[in-house]
Amino acid sequence: MLPSETQHLIDQHGIRYVLAQFVDIHGSAKTKSVPVAGLAAVAEEGAGFAGFAICGMGMEPHGPDFMARGDLSTLIPVPWQAGYGRVVCIGHVNGKPHPYDSRYVLQRQVARLGDRGWSLNTGLEPEFFLMRRDEVGKLSLVDGSDTLDKPCYDYKGLSRSRLFLEKLTEALQPVGFDIYQIDHEDANGQFEINYTYSEALESADRFTFFRMAAGEIANELGMICSFMPKPDPKRAGNGMHFHLSLASATSRNLFHDDSDPRGMGLSRLAYHFLAGLLAHGPALCAFAAPTVNSYKRLVVGRSLSGATWAPAFIAYGANNRSAMIRVPYGRLEFRLPDAGCNPYLVTAAIIAAGLDGIERELDPGAPCNENLYNLSLEAIAARGIETLPQSLKEACDALDADPLFREMLGPEIVDEFIKLKRMEWVEYSRHVSDWEIQRYTEFF
Ligand code: GLU
Ligand code: MG
Repeated sequence: MLPSETQHLIDQHGIRYVLAQFVDIHGSAKTKSVPVAGLAAVAEEGAGFAGFAICGMGMEPHGPDFMARGDLSTLIPVPWQAGYGRVVCIGHVNGKPHPYDSRYVLQRQVARLGDRGWSLNTGLEPEFFLMRRDEVGKLSLVDGSDTLDKPCYDYKGLSRSRLFLEKLTEALQPVGFDIYQIDHEDANGQFEINYTYSEALESADRFTFFRMAAGEIANELGMICSFMPKPDPKRAGNGMHFHLSLASATSRNLFHDDSDPRGMGLSRLAYHFLAGLLAHGPALCAFAAPTVNSYKRLVVGRSLSGATWAPAFIAYGANNRSAMIRVPYGRLEFRLPDAGCNPYLVTAAIIAAGLDGIERELDPGAPCNENLYNLSLEAIAARGIETLPQSLKEACDALDADPLFREMLGPEIVDEFIKLKRMEWVEYSRHVSDWEIQRYTEFF
């Protein structure tokens, strides 16, 4: 039997099928479609999956099933797919939560905060490109007239993609996304949709749903909505900044303190948390920028619009968009993650690093309020600022060398993540690119 509020939701929205949904280690949504009569069983036992078929679940073809057990409080209608609902699941194996399930990993970090009477609020800022594929498979921007060098906030650029943007907005609003701004970003064909922050686990669920919605609505319109970190080497990439603040049981923002002598409105607790993020920056990078392509975003250098807006150095500053952490006032904006990340893993790693900063009372030092993009590497080094990993391999090495994440997130998921990401790096390294062909074919 389903609880009455669940049954009410089902009746109210005419839900006939429920997507039992979780994510793989990359953060990609995986589902089974369950006729609504089977929902109670999904909540109690789970929907069964062959775990070996899912990336990064650490399972073998001869092992037990991965049972995706639905949390009925997450049930919402799927507005772009009439008659469907979605319930978010936690993977169970042999009746126990599975340590390779990144949502479960995040739940455990959220519980560590809960033990101290805290919760983390996160506001995620997804950026994406609107593209299409022609008959021969060649990709181009949907709006061929979107060619300005500085396209950010351009009226025409926004207006000409409004059909998709409106459909996406109006699909997300009825399921709890408080969307307050939509803009054309700093690359041609690039957009961002902003909605109000929420508790960390809910934000990660929402971002997953956001990518599901954007992908399917684009597909209906014959478009591709791409969250790839850096589709065009000369333009800004797709960031997915995390706005962060800890809250007390009474929802007070524990990062906010007007008496901050630095004038950034931050409490001591916030500075310790921030220092934890800086101290573990290189290892965090593996989760926040988890693809080969991510490192083409985190570069030192300009784009055609004048800036990449993505961090290259481990530093923080007041309203400094060239730093890894910006402090808008009374909260943090972590600018490292890209739109291709697994939001559960990134958030879990943020909590682990931040709590480490709090427990060890780390000090982030003075803020850097200079334009880091304009400083020479010598000037950066003279300020004691370190450069972020420059490749997926360097980020994997940094994660491997930092014991915090194995200890806090669990060795299972961290080792599996490193293993898969090292394989991705090797595969990429063995690929012969056009650049190499152009450069070396007649070079010698
Ligand atoms: N697209 C930039 C990035 O890759 C961020 C732009 C912004 O600040 O909104 O992080
Ligand atoms: Mg942006």
